Amino acid sequence: MSEEARLEPDLLLLGGRLITQDAERRVLPDHGVAIREGAICAIAPSATLRRLYPDAARLDASGCIVMPGLVNAHQHCTADPLVRSLIPDSIGSHEAIFGCATPLHGALTPEDDELSALLTAVESLRYGTTTVVEAGTVAHPDRVAAGLSRAGIRGTIGRWGWDTPGLPFSASAGEALRLQEELLRAFPKGGLIEGWVTLVGHELVSDDLLAGASDLALAHGTGLTFHMSPTEADVAAYLARDGLRPMAHLARLGILGPHLLLAHAVWMDEQEVDLLLESRSAVAYCPWAYLRLGQGVTGAGRHAALIARGGRVALGCDAVNAGDLPDMHRAAALAVGLARDMTMDTQAITAATGLDLVTIRGAEAIGMADRIGSIEIGKRADLVVHDGSAAAWRPAGDPALNLIWGTDGRTVRDVVVDGRIVLRNGRSTLVDEEELARRATEARDALLARSGVA
Ligand SMILES: [Zn+2]
Repeated sequence: MSEEARLEPDLLLLGGRLITQDAERRVLPDHGVAIREGAICAIAPSATLRRLYPDAARLDASGCIVMPGLVNAHQHCTADPLVRSLIPDSIGSHEAIFGCATPLHGALTPEDDELSALLTAVESLRYGTTTVVEAGTVAHPDRVAAGLSRAGIRGTIGRWGWDTPGLPFSASAGEALRLQEELLRAFPKGGLIEGWVTLVGHELVSDDLLAGASDLALAHGTGLTFHMSPTEADVAAYLARDGLRPMAHLARLGILGPHLLLAHAVWMDEQEVDLLLESRSAVAYCPWAYLRLGQGVTGAGRHAALIARGGRVALGCDAVNAGDLPDMHRAAALAVGLARDMTMDTQAITAATGLDLVTIRGAEAIGMADRIGSIEIGKRADLVVHDGSAAAWRPAGDPALNLIWGTDGRTVRDVVVDGRIVLRNGRSTLVDEEELARRATEARDALLARSGVA
């Protein structure tokens, strides 16, 4: 052990079976993690760490499974969390957007945005997610940041921009970019909450706004994310625009690249898959949403090929009325299962790959693999403890099979983010969850009354 590692840690997490997700995918029985100033400073047998640091604070994970915190690469944190399971799934997307989402967003107060983000963060942590890429909020991103911060989760936030005249909340490209830049300056790269350039995407963005947004993300060294091609509608719209399919259009604009995280990218042809692979653009794949909304992923989706060919793919849960439960275990199981069924090939994508997608590969896809996604010295201490006494772990099997097929977020016991214990015994250490539920119910009733929805 190096001299550096001998400095007194702030916290020892001891006794677990470490699923490191490091380059060798090592699984280390009865090992511990020492944490100092929010980072992992040592990984060693638990007995060694106990001997070296007898006085350090401890979190006992004996008999438990310890894994890196999970990455959710596309999650709407406003509006939907307050109206969970209320937008009917029998209506079409046009009615859902203009009959529900638009009036709800129009009626949100700043307090609603903060409360929604807090609900999302607390629930996500309970299922072992420690990093959330927020899919964009309309009005109060600062309050979204406040909500995420209060729960102690890591995340990116964005202010939704679009410049299609005549739509609610529309702004000129210049104004939309000015607001984006304001957010990037307020939440700089590298913080627990960092600003990303975030557009709604689809066909609701001019070429000027797309190009300007890409330049802005590159100038700040941050991510750019927007929705594209969850259905065939975007394909039709872009073909009508200039005869090019969406990814070819983005390539012509010069905005494909490692800084880009496209949400969905379901309806693609072979050339579009090649364009994403060649440019190293990333995709946030949200399989539950496509099933819930009937968007055709089982026929049109090419994510299995993208993953198999080494593409940059992370998973997401989208929104609590489309994808619903923000549990990355469920999303990973579905992504793997769909790929196996669509190819009728059990080699196509395995549970180990599914685990990669929500840990190290997901972290790489959102540009944070230098900080998170695996248990390695020098990385931020984002760690999840699964309760080894839960039925799903007795007896425990192969870790990837167990984590992807054999359980879900329900066996998460403790969560550490940036070295801080934010969940203990399944409850937030920072938020009174009963009070949160009470406030959310009151806010939901008031929001529905104000918006005229339901
Ligand atoms: Zn979305």
